[in-house]
Amino acid sequence: MRDTRWRNNAMSLLWSTSNMARRSSLVNEWRSAASQLQASWRNSATYSTHFVRSANDTYETEWTFEGDQGLPDRFQNCQKNPTHANFIPVTSLELSHFPEEFRRPSLLTLTECLRDVTVRLSLNKVSSKRPSVFPGTNFEYPFGEGKHDGRYRFGSGRIRFVNEKDPYEDGTCPCRECQASSDPKEDWWRVGVVTATHVVFNKEEAVETTCRVGYDSEDSSLVTLDGYGIAKRGTFVEEDRCNVLFCTHDAALANRLAKCVADYKSITESVVQEFSGVPEDEKRLTIIVSHPHGYPKRVTFGAWQHKDKDKNGFTQYTYDADTCKGTSGAPVYVLDRKKLPFCNHPHSAAQDLFNYCGGGYG
Ligand SMILES: [Zn+2]
Ligand SMILES: [Zn+2]
Repeated sequence: MRDTRWRNNAMSLLWSTSNMARRSSLVNEWRSAASQLQASWRNSATYSTHFVRSANDTYETEWTFEGDQGLPDRFQNCQKNPTHANFIPVTSLELSHFPEEFRRPSLLTLTECLRDVTVRLSLNKVSSKRPSVFPGTNFEYPFGEGKHDGRYRFGSGRIRFVNEKDPYEDGTCPCRECQASSDPKEDWWRVGVVTATHVVFNKEEAVETTCRVGYDSEDSSLVTLDGYGIAKRGTFVEEDRCNVLFCTHDAALANRLAKCVADYKSITESVVQEFSGVPEDEKRLTIIVSHPHGYPKRVTFGAWQHKDKDKNGFTQYTYDADTCKGTSGAPVYVLDRKKLPFCNHPHSAAQDLFNYCGGGYG
């Protein structure tokens, strides 16, 4: 018989207590209990109403003073996953990489579609509007209050939509090339990307963000989009979820990306149908496509362990799929999704025993 009361109690106290010593002892108690229950998590889902977050979480953006040039050193000297053995390059992905019970062609296609909507984000800006702590907690916010030492930041994201500009709201193309030109393009497209708020916090950071699409291998051609804003009601600090807007005046690129988004939605819907008769505990597959250390895309597999729901109706998952710095904001695909088949949860952070995403729907 599984007993998860220890965790709910510990989390409630963690959220309510301001006594650091007490919190520290609670964290230890929680870890010890979690360690004992780790095996059972693999075989049985648990639910609660508190989002996971603690004082010593690692938020997984990658940072280098040298920009792209600094990334090989970060990848090769990774402390969390030194060999990256479980990070499969997307260019060599095949069914044999999947957990045995999930070796189905539909899931390979789904992962390839997820690959095509995954992007790398980079910027060298920290807004002074970042809070010092996560709302409602005493837990330090990443680079809170604009603490910035000049390093470039790398994260991941997922393309949500590609729309033509709104003729009533939008002016000429807001990309950097057009903004510097006396003849900016009239026709352009919005590309919406969801990432973690600690990767891109607000418009001040969005306009400094570059989105690299199709970065599948070292040989991939350089295709980038410029950030220009945040979607309306697009920032959720507590849930670590942010909808950033990018633009392109390249019609062929916009059409290609729109097709990737449509293909991804379509395959996720058919996969939910395919697995509809499978019991929940037998389909807790988690797939993450991300840019660890800002490198070309890698795929990791795991199982989701715990699902939470917060007061705003967002859900959060914990999972054992591997993540590294650079994975923040990456799409976390969870197989058992009834209402919204496509994943919409951005990876957020790591604790000792599991990784977790920011808030999403369903
Ligand atoms: Zn790593
Ligand atoms: Zn432009």
